Amino acid sequence: MHSPGNVSVQDRPDPTIEKPTDAIIRIAATCVCGSDLWPYRGANDVDNAPMGHEYVGYVQEVGADVRTVKVGDFVVGSFMASDNTCEICKAGYQSRCVHVVGMGGVGTQAEYARIPWADGTLVATPEPPAEDLIPSYLAASDVLGTGWFAADAAQVRPGKTVAVVGDGAVGLLGVLAAQQMGAERIIAMSRHADRQALAREFGATDIVAERGDEGVAAIREMTGGLGAHSVIEAVGTQESMMQAVRSTRAGGHVGFVGVSHDVELPGNKLFYSAVHLHGGPAPVRRFLPDLMDRIANRMIDPGKVFDMRIPLEQAADAYRAMDQREAIKVLLTV
Ligand SMILES: [Zn+2]
Repeated sequence: MHSPGNVSVQDRPDPTIEKPTDAIIRIAATCVCGSDLWPYRGANDVDNAPMGHEYVGYVQEVGADVRTVKVGDFVVGSFMASDNTCEICKAGYQSRCVHVVGMGGVGTQAEYARIPWADGTLVATPEPPAEDLIPSYLAASDVLGTGWFAADAAQVRPGKTVAVVGDGAVGLLGVLAAQQMGAERIIAMSRHADRQALAREFGATDIVAERGDEGVAAIREMTGGLGAHSVIEAVGTQESMMQAVRSTRAGGHVGFVGVSHDVELPGNKLFYSAVHLHGGPAPVRRFLPDLMDRIANRMIDPGKVFDMRIPLEQAADAYRAMDQREAIKVLLTV
């Protein structure tokens, strides 16, 4: 991305092993993230940056210290590379590893990528996957793992009522995660018919089209005036964050995973809400083995969030389609 709104595909040097803990992968599929739209729309600075942080692919080469993946393996990795051995990783917060490397700086909207901390970051499938599962594995790399973390952080449990703020790919997969975790009632907040339909397919039991004060009132009305037990916030704006906090019952939990942009929480409202807040960049690596099993066993089909496929060479069209909301999420074929 050269500057906001200006994306092109160019030749860059092939990545090479720089550290013995690196691996090089040949990317099988990649995609555009909702968070890539922040710089595209000028909300973040961008200056000739390689783009992309979601990826699945085949191991092409490994450094001398890499033990858990080998050449030819099909692997899924998180958008944050982690050693998976430090105290923070062991506690399940690999996205904040003491050696973390953000894959956005590497740029996985590409044919090849260097993966730092390959042993800690990559998870291999036992055998090469069926072609039709590749979109779902790609989703696991970020949007599914992020929606899953949001549901986990919001303490979704059997019998609970869950509200999901945000109908992008992460919010929709938050619905799927809540369904898998046994929520009794899942309220998706969306104004778009196609996204409402996918939310229902993923397990939403109710749809609320209102937002802001009206959205909060609708959630409260559906929950006996109390608010939801668990609320997933998957946007990252002031409005969506406050909608999430105000839709949660006292003692309930908000899992917030929308990348925060200028969100400022008013202390008095937070104080009197008596809700738990937990969120941040999702430690996708914690959930990958479980999510990959569910995909392999066809228990879940998160790849459905990709409603458009475009060759990598036409990446600019993918950004345009997502920016214009013509697509929920675009898969780039490599
Ligand atoms: Zn670590």
